[in-house]
Amino acid sequence: MATSRRPLVAGNWKMNGLKSSAAEVDQLVTAAGGLARLDMMVCPPATLVADFAERSKGSKLVIGAQDCHPEPAGAFTGDIAAEMLADAGATAVIVGHSERRTYHGEDNATVRSKALAAWRARLTAIVCVGETEADREGGDTLGVIGRQLEGSLPDDATAANLVVAYEPVWAIGTGRTPTPANVVEVHGFIRDRLTTRFGAAGEGIRVLYGGSVKPANARELLTLANVDGALVGGASLKAAEFLGIAAAYG
Ligand code: PEP
Repeated sequence: MATSRRPLVAGNWKMNGLKSSAAEVDQLVTAAGGLARLDMMVCPPATLVADFAERSKGSKLVIGAQDCHPEPAGAFTGDIAAEMLADAGATAVIVGHSERRTYHGEDNATVRSKALAAWRARLTAIVCVGETEADREGGDTLGVIGRQLEGSLPDDATAANLVVAYEPVWAIGTGRTPTPANVVEVHGFIRDRLTTRFGAAGEGIRVLYGGSVKPANARELLTLANVDGALVGGASLKAAEFLGIAAAYG
């Protein structure tokens, strides 16, 4: 079925990148002008958001961040508010990445409060969900994802303020990916949950696939039903590789 959702290819640099990495972004800024069929985003570490936002100003490349604190300001040493990210030039922020859920003990309620913080700062929240290998082997993939969606997504989501990223934890950074049938099943399930909960708005919310996306598998994964783009980790660090993934959309 034809869809009006515009694909988004977003790069999550995680804890990688220095000022000297700007050359990669400069390449993306140049290339983004020719990418008529998709939106492109890079989410560098917070230290680089302002510089990358400045470099990409006026171009089709937009800059996101990787996490935010629920509160707008206060005594939270080391944390960064959504308002600070917006002030630095970010237009979106990833929340609930599995590395935050695992290494920082973030539960669904925390992720939901961060998504609300993103909205308060007028950022798009990119909310990540995904099952572990044990969840999948236990036959609980859809159960886990259903509970993550229910608990992590605030009410009043729209196509403008929310992107969902389906990232099977066992596929992140491992070189392993689900079968196309598995991806179609989970993305169809997420779409169903979004439309049930948010009505017509749920039809427009983009659902990205993330987990070991590379130029070699991008076309197969990104052209599946209800896959509206990719959240890319390792393969987003080099502009040429990231652009090889974007090429899946011709
Ligand atoms: C990620 O961590 O968001 C991710 C998708 O990583 P990778 O592409 O490296 O598997």
